[in-house]
Amino acid sequence: MSQFLRPQYQNLKPYTPGEQINADYIKLNTNESPFPPSPRVGEVLRSGIEERLHLYSDPTLGELHRAVATKFGLTEDYVMAANGSDDVLAFAIMAYAGSGGALVCPDITYGFYPVYANLFGAKLVTILLRDDFSLNAEAYFNAPGTVVIANPNAPTGIALPLSEIERIIAANPENIVIIDEAYMPFHGESCIPLLAKYDNLLVTMTMSKSHSLAGLRVGFAIANPHIIADLNRIRYSFNPYNLNAISIKAAAAAIADDEYYDGCIAEINRTRAWVTDELVQLGFTCTPSVANFIFAAHPAIEGNELYRKLKERMILVRHLDSPRARGHVRISVGTTEQMTALINEIRSILEDKNA
Ligand code: PMP
Repeated sequence: MSQFLRPQYQNLKPYTPGEQINADYIKLNTNESPFPPSPRVGEVLRSGIEERLHLYSDPTLGELHRAVATKFGLTEDYVMAANGSDDVLAFAIMAYAGSGGALVCPDITYGFYPVYANLFGAKLVTILLRDDFSLNAEAYFNAPGTVVIANPNAPTGIALPLSEIERIIAANPENIVIIDEAYMPFHGESCIPLLAKYDNLLVTMTMSKSHSLAGLRVGFAIANPHIIADLNRIRYSFNPYNLNAISIKAAAAAIADDEYYDGCIAEINRTRAWVTDELVQLGFTCTPSVANFIFAAHPAIEGNELYRKLKERMILVRHLDSPRARGHVRISVGTTEQMTALINEIRSILEDKNA
């Protein structure tokens, strides 16, 4: 650290992204899709788009906003896209919790929420999940600030029913409630219909998981137009060209291809079900995940040891070193072949330990 860094940034604890190693690992650590994106993305890349890269991208993001709005049966003014949903979350936390506000979230959830709270000067208020990692909606009633809940939650994969989400939104009329639906497509229950009833709801989504476009970096906010106007105020004050021309066109093409993605999602859900069964037979306990990952713990091996042993065997999973998650690993759902290799290696690791 240099002596020039402003004091408020000197104690930042940056987010630690999952390892992105360019070697022959079976990569089950950052919840990417194992499938390629829709063929329509390739068509965009082969369309001669490079000939227009001397021009700035469209700051209104109109083409992408129209595609998202059409998919969800909304008008464009309900949508704002950004460079990954991380960007959307950053803008929202800056806008509604930053500079002395508060951000309220579960103790075990997406690790970026506390980082953004810290970066933007929001007080972080964490609410304990129950021992089975389920979320008690009533603990969020009349929250002391902006609420952010991932639904399904990460790293547990547990979803809160829409009726419980609605109770939280209804019980916080003075605060924005951000529902992070990064993994919603695997579960299929979005809270977008609640936008018609509540003006304090902000939904975030990503193309990184269900839509196989983690490398493209596209996410979006869906909310009532006055909220979208707030977010655009921040976006235009920060970087109006936050999405590049390739991302805009490729994401717009992909989001319209429901037929292709519905097939990928169904396959991932089938794989999650059989891998969970196999893990349970090997003595693991798994949370009831409805997302594209499994959160699993075994009585005979600590999460960190399992992570290390799998890495030696060229399989990457994610271990999160927080006290209540320490026993677990989070395993992204890959292809049948990848998951068969995972189960075989786990079986052999447990045999080595005589477990
Ligand atoms: N929300 C949750 C719950 C996530 O797990 C992730 C990805 N790690 C994100 C948001 C951010 O996704 P992206 O920036 O790729 O859209």
